[in-house]
Amino acid sequence: MIALLLNTNTNFGTPIDKIYSVKTTLSFPENGYPNKQSVLEAVNEYALSNNFTIKIKDGKFLTLHLACSKAGAYRDKRNISEDKRKKAPNSSLTGCPFLLIFSFKNKSQRYLPLPVRGDNEHCHNHPITPNNLASSHQGRMSLLTSEDAIIAKTMLENHAKTRDIQKATRDKVTGMRKLRISDINNLKYNSSRGG
Ligand SMILES: [Zn+2]
Repeated sequence: MIALLLNTNTNFGTPIDKIYSVKTTLSFPENGYPNKQSVLEAVNEYALSNNFTIKIKDGKFLTLHLACSKAGAYRDKRNISEDKRKKAPNSSLTGCPFLLIFSFKNKSQRYLPLPVRGDNEHCHNHPITPNNLASSHQGRMSLLTSEDAIIAKTMLENHAKTRDIQKATRDKVTGMRKLRISDINNLKYNSSRGG
């Protein structure tokens, strides 16, 4: 563990064995964005189209730090409550170094991206394939086509088995399941509440 921590070249002190670059180059409008919401929307769209999802690492004050959803496994957990720590083992986290930082410029009143600070800041330490997207709820929802959604809804209404709904909505080429049992249970719960 000590060796791991010493071999640090990323934001979270995680060693990088293999680097996965994003296939689409990042490009942001020269004059930035008017607010945090529009930054989030643009980066979300960019991330999903490259098979990963993002989370807000820090959004206080006038900066916005957006990390890969897999960032953070090796973070210091001392400031997380005991309760939360027990609830979330976060086994899917890889300590991914991907990070985008936007800063609000008073002069232009816009959010602009800050230059990269580390070597791997725009890279991932895990494959970024559709399978990666399937590891998060948000990612799975983005993989669902409108056709899938209709199939799932109709099957739910007809009280189909969870496993059959998973089969009907899986990816036709790879066979990957786009819905987890928990996703389907959520759908069931929502539809039973008329939502
Ligand atoms: Zn990542």
